[in-house]
Amino acid sequence: MEICCWRKTRAARRPGGISPTRLMKCTENAGSIFGHIFGLRKGYKDMLNKKTVDDLKDLKGKKVLVRCDFNVPLKNGVITDETRIVAALPTIQKLIGEGAKVILCSHLGKVKNGPNEGESLAPVAVRLSEKLGKDVVFVSDYNVTGEAADKAVAAMGDGDVVLLQNTRFRGKEETKNGEEFSKELAALADDYVCDAFGSSHRAHASVEGVTKCISAKGGVNAVGYLMQKEIDFLGNAVENPVRPFVAILGGAKVADKLNVISNLLEKCDTLIIGGGMAFTFLKAQGKGVGDSLVDDSKLDYCKEMMDKANKLGKKLLLPIDTTIAAAFPDPIDGPVEVQVVSSDAIPDNMQGLDIGPKTAELYGEAVKSAKTVVWNGPMGVFENPVLAKGTIAVAKALAETEATTIIGGGDSAAAMNQLGFADKVSHISTGGGASLEFLEGKVLPGVAAADDKE
Ligand code: AMP
Repeated sequence: MEICCWRKTRAARRPGGISPTRLMKCTENAGSIFGHIFGLRKGYKDMLNKKTVDDLKDLKGKKVLVRCDFNVPLKNGVITDETRIVAALPTIQKLIGEGAKVILCSHLGKVKNGPNEGESLAPVAVRLSEKLGKDVVFVSDYNVTGEAADKAVAAMGDGDVVLLQNTRFRGKEETKNGEEFSKELAALADDYVCDAFGSSHRAHASVEGVTKCISAKGGVNAVGYLMQKEIDFLGNAVENPVRPFVAILGGAKVADKLNVISNLLEKCDTLIIGGGMAFTFLKAQGKGVGDSLVDDSKLDYCKEMMDKANKLGKKLLLPIDTTIAAAFPDPIDGPVEVQVVSSDAIPDNMQGLDIGPKTAELYGEAVKSAKTVVWNGPMGVFENPVLAKGTIAVAKALAETEATTIIGGGDSAAAMNQLGFADKVSHISTGGGASLEFLEGKVLPGVAAADDKE
């Protein structure tokens, strides 16, 4: 019996550095052992035990539809960050290597005003072809599926790659039209692989609907390597952490993270709160918070969470000192005059915009003592260099520890990247919204839709 050890190895720091088979083994063992012991919620537990691309058999000549996340930033038609394309390569290369006919699809942008060349996946096809070192046939048809796609797929040889047009060009994927779209996508392939973690919290045609149609014709639905890595780190590290497990939450509003706070309190040993959301907690403790960001409708909720922490015997850390200013900087990265005060001495006409140095030290110490750390949300208005010190201190603490460190996407991921710490943490999630829902303990439709391992 093998129990996965969540130590940060050099391999774990490399994207795709852990062998997917080993990851799956960890998932399998950890899921079954801890699932039985602690009785995890069924739907959530099932997400930790999905078929992966390694479970697809006899791939030579098989048509496999892969939902990728090619939602890359574009400036004047040029890709400015290819991270998502690079992250998709291991799954695509595996399928090519096995002789499958690889049909790729993805969304790009919000497509608010209907299909348009500015949001076409054409630049992705070019970059992907360079990365793979082979042709990628791009189906530019705005209908995505249909005659042009059928023709391109019919002409594929073993190991060939076709990229379909932006799935959002078909309109809202979760609408009734989505059913028709799901069927048409599934008709192109024998098996389906979802590798778009960033979209997995949406019950869209290309993420969830298509899987029902693939199952109906006897095909297999699996998750790709990228998705498996996310499931493994976010799911298993939170469900079966090596302790002490410290969770750090920041960002603007308490309301955005209600369920994350509640769920993580149950799982972690210490919950650290920073950023704008800390002031609602401080006010709930009866402290004056001046003009700081406060959500008065959530004061009772914060009291409830502090009670919950007490009852569960968990530590809940709040800022002991705060960096304050007379006004929010405008522009956000413009000059700002600050002072540091104790968190119970914020003057009426001032607002807290970052954690203070004593708090940064306290939070850093908590990170040092941890074996697993999950972080989501900045400690202050990190867009401004004067107010980024708390966020940088936490980022540094994470970069320096040997613990398993997981960054839940969004602003904290951006901060780690900007500071050059990306390769010093175990995992940076590729999906902000999806990773938050995972941390909330929600079942993600795109993950749940994959077939369970036998
Ligand atoms: P979120 O999207 O909830 O993760 O929040 C991120 C935003 O929270 C960033 O744009 C920060 O500037 C902002 N933020 C962090 N701390 C504070 C604060 N003390 N007051 C106001 N905004 C903050």
